[in-house]
Amino acid sequence: MKKDDCIFCKIANGEIPSACIYENKEFRVILDVGPATRGHVLILTKEHYDNIFEIDAETAGRLFSLASVVARAMKKTLNCDGMNILQNNGTIAGQTVFHFHLHLIPRYEGDQVKVTWPQGEISDDEKTELVNMIKKEI
Ligand code: 5GP
Ligand code: ZN
Repeated sequence: MKKDDCIFCKIANGEIPSACIYENKEFRVILDVGPATRGHVLILTKEHYDNIFEIDAETAGRLFSLASVVARAMKKTLNCDGMNILQNNGTIAGQTVFHFHLHLIPRYEGDQVKVTWPQGEISDDEKTELVNMIKKEI
């Protein structure tokens, strides 16, 4: 389903022009309009899913498969030193556009991008509790 008021639905389906690198029937690969670094790419689904909690596993699998191909093409052509692949879900997690998209952010020595967090701690009891809680829903 497409959503009328969603800018990424319009971009993904070609109603709004974008710097498009690749498209197939399910996905469009574009340059981010506010790149974190040179060559920051987004992969958009053509169908509307708000985020990871809505997309089906098969579509997500095909999207990540495409991401691996695009990442190799980027590494070869941009000569980056590394790459972050990330995907934000929910306002608290930094999601600003509520249409599923995957970020491919090339990393260069000396760039100012920060994808870090303070390291926490976990007890054995908490490990057991969390493992049991989550695994029964999979
Ligand atoms: P989020 O914060 O939701 O994970 O990422 C949204 C991303 O979409 C941002 O990196 C932002 O620069 C990018 N973006 C927002 N609007 C547009 C647009 O109209 N065109 C393109 N190409 N990128 C956009
Ligand atoms: Zn949408």
